[in-house]
Amino acid sequence: AARGARVALAESGALGGTCVNVGCIPKKLYSYAAGYAESFEEAEGYGWHLPSAPQFDWQHLKAQRAKEIDRLNGVYLNLLNGPGVQVLRGHARFAEGDAHAIEVNGERHTARHVIVATGGRPFVPDFPGRDLAVVSDAMFDLDPFPQRLVVVGGGYIACEFASIFKGLGAQVTQLLRRAHVLTGFDEDLRHFIADEMGKNGIDIRCNVQVSSIRRTDNELTVVLDRGQELRADAVLFATGRIPNTEGLGLAEAGIELDERGAIRIDEGYRTSQPGVYALGDVSTRLQLTPVALAEAMVVVDELFPDPRRKGGSPRQPPDYDFVPTAVFTHPNIATCGYTEAQARKRFGDGQITVYATEFKSLRHTLSGRSERTFMKLLVDDATDRVVGLHMVGAEAGEIVQGFAVAMQAGATKAHFDRTIGIHPTSAEEFVTMREPSVG
Ligand code: NDP
Repeated sequence: AARGARVALAESGALGGTCVNVGCIPKKLYSYAAGYAESFEEAEGYGWHLPSAPQFDWQHLKAQRAKEIDRLNGVYLNLLNGPGVQVLRGHARFAEGDAHAIEVNGERHTARHVIVATGGRPFVPDFPGRDLAVVSDAMFDLDPFPQRLVVVGGGYIACEFASIFKGLGAQVTQLLRRAHVLTGFDEDLRHFIADEMGKNGIDIRCNVQVSSIRRTDNELTVVLDRGQELRADAVLFATGRIPNTEGLGLAEAGIELDERGAIRIDEGYRTSQPGVYALGDVSTRLQLTPVALAEAMVVVDELFPDPRRKGGSPRQPPDYDFVPTAVFTHPNIATCGYTEAQARKRFGDGQITVYATEFKSLRHTLSGRSERTFMKLLVDDATDRVVGLHMVGAEAGEIVQGFAVAMQAGATKAHFDRTIGIHPTSAEEFVTMREPSVG
């Protein structure tokens, strides 16, 4: 709309999608809330004696969050109203097999270009008592606060909520169907964060599946595949997310899905129907808000070029090999580029030099906390380029964002070595790793 196009946007829920309403934003707010528990503990070591044990008020946090999300919904509406986007409140579907006609609340709207960005939703496997489990959408408003929480899954969402609810005071048990958390992340990082989460009191159990859940009195009984039982107040299934493709009339409109059930797209985000595009979780492999935004700008620039854009060339799709990402566990994880296993496969087994370090940060010398920080760099010997950067530690997301720019620009280990550290920080360790790891 800002480029002069006449645009309508259909939304059946709150504006802002998963990220704003039941994802990134409220999750990060709750992660901050959980962090205070650590800060109160640590403050003692620095001479702050609290007059009494701090009390956590779950209802207050929920109300504060709801107020902030309402405010953001309003901001999004203003962003749309400003350039004159017509907002259609209702569920949209392609009308009668026409890929350029959309029906919302019984009204038909036609457009030359259609973008499908309907996101995804949590996936929960089938088992007896499945309805007694909750998904991440419900975690922000649980009532009452779950004193005993069972988290099923070992991915982003499971690890983040396990950390958050542990910090807020719940007793947390996390169940993994395999041996380790965070499949797809660097192996060393996976082991390191599991140890840290364990030190924080999360009971991580590996190679275990839920057979059933039943309600008994005022609690839930979770039966595991080896017959063991756990008692809980809430059971979160964070077992992946699937694309929202149902009820859109995609098949009738000739829009194909791929083998994962996501909308099939080419490298320009075009679906199998000319003039119809799909962006974000409904089509992509990387379910991350900033990736969806980057993809969207490629399409926007292609359809309605920005006359002010320098260089004239069309915007390139994001570099999917170097997408930085963070997991807001306690401590945080952040990473950019290849894992060690991926790098060895991509650049050759003997072609990768690994630098790794772990240490107790200065903050924890007096805090009394045993938390440690982990950092790892992977260098492609042929070019000296830093192709992987991984961190577990306080503010990892804030730290790795800047390094991601350097990596996008092709920074080499020599560039890292020439960079002066900011002392005393944890981040400076990334530019002072001199000796490769052995083994
Ligand atoms: P993930 O794909 O990250 O993790 C899914 C987890 O569920 C894995 O540990 C998987 O195990 C496990 N799992 C899958 N099926 C089953 C099953 N039948 N029984 C038991 N366990 C199962 O999905 P999430 O739901 O955590 O998150 C979805 C995506 O959302 C993420 O991949 C990420 O892209 C995005 N996200 C990003 C965040 C951020 O940027 N901070 C925060 C939250 C989400 P296994 O590993 O063994 O396959």
